[in-house]
Amino acid sequence: MPLLAPDRYLTDVHAIDLAALKASGVRALLLDIDNTILPRDTNLVPPELAAWATDVVRQGFKVCLVSNNWHERVRLVAAELGFELVAKAIKPLPFAFWIATRRIGVRARHCVVVGDQLFTDVLGGKLIGARTIMVLPLSATDLPHTLLLRRLEARIMKGAQAEGPTRTTRGVDPT
Ligand SMILES: [Mg+2]
Repeated sequence: MPLLAPDRYLTDVHAIDLAALKASGVRALLLDIDNTILPRDTNLVPPELAAWATDVVRQGFKVCLVSNNWHERVRLVAAELGFELVAKAIKPLPFAFWIATRRIGVRARHCVVVGDQLFTDVLGGKLIGARTIMVLPLSATDLPHTLLLRRLEARIMKGAQAEGPTRTTRGVDPT
């Protein structure tokens, strides 16, 4: 099993087929925050994300946010969405993911890790034996070392195209 190859590569979380995920045995989502569900520079939860979060819960999935971020902002986001949170995660190390799976009571093999980075989210997800979905980063703003890693990611992904509609084609205002 290649450690640096996501099981799916999608435009964003809205492109996830929740029904198919459920049918494949997935019971929980371990979600990255920065540039996966929200751009790094905001803590305002847009209505589209709130609606998606409600849908995920209504379809019976457990959710835990797993973020390397340690700022108060990620707590506010978790509280607003009503999701569990493991912050200061030091992904790709597996410890925070293990804490997350224990907190929501779902084994790693029934979890899918969703994130925008190959070397933190996808690698970490693979290390715990979860399934992985990589999404395009929501904004070009990120930490300097992340921007460097993205160049390496691009080489490994070899021009792979993310599947699914973009925010623009869905008619969502990108701001
Ligand atoms: Mg991220």
